[in-house]
Amino acid sequence: MTEPVLENDLRATVRSIPDYPKPGIIFRDITTMLGNARAFRRAVDELVQPWAGMKIDKIAGIEARGFILGGAVAHQVSAGFVPIRKKGKLPHKRVSVTYMLEYGEDEIEIHADALVAGERVVLVDDLIATGGTAEAAVKLLRQLGAEVLGACFVIDLPDLGGASRLRDLGVPVRTLISFQGH
Ligand code: AMP
Repeated sequence: MTEPVLENDLRATVRSIPDYPKPGIIFRDITTMLGNARAFRRAVDELVQPWAGMKIDKIAGIEARGFILGGAVAHQVSAGFVPIRKKGKLPHKRVSVTYMLEYGEDEIEIHADALVAGERVVLVDDLIATGGTAEAAVKLLRQLGAEVLGACFVIDLPDLGGASRLRDLGVPVRTLISFQGH
């Protein structure tokens, strides 16, 4: 659990947009948080707080908002950055994993040489909902032999169970703000 002051301060910088991208979904828009210098810095500092002082080789960010946060986090902890992208975007030899969505399936990829076995990696994205995307990302990282130290997200939607799903895989999870519902 994060301290209430941090959670309240950060929550106020996230914009909630009802019925986007489809009816019934409340889109949690972090562009307003990113545009606020103090909130952006605070979020980046707090995301990796559980691993402060530990050696982190790589930060892996999930396309696309995980790139913005993950790049800043990587700089902050002096780690390299590894992009995990939607199918068809990475130019070199790739490893892919397919995962289920509410309707249908999707595929994410990582460069096969993005990591060497035994490297210590923290996964970053803006939000965890069902955890399907993050679970697929953990599988990719582990397939390359990475040691996944943990995963961090600015926003948790706990009713969708994603954080518990990742913890069940043995991945420690850090989230900064939570919103009830979908
Ligand atoms: P999931 O795989 O269900 O955990 O979905 C996580 C991914 O979908 C993240 O990359 C999020 O950016 C995006 N996402 C899911 N639900 C929302 C939401 N309500 N608002 C903003 N982004 C969302």
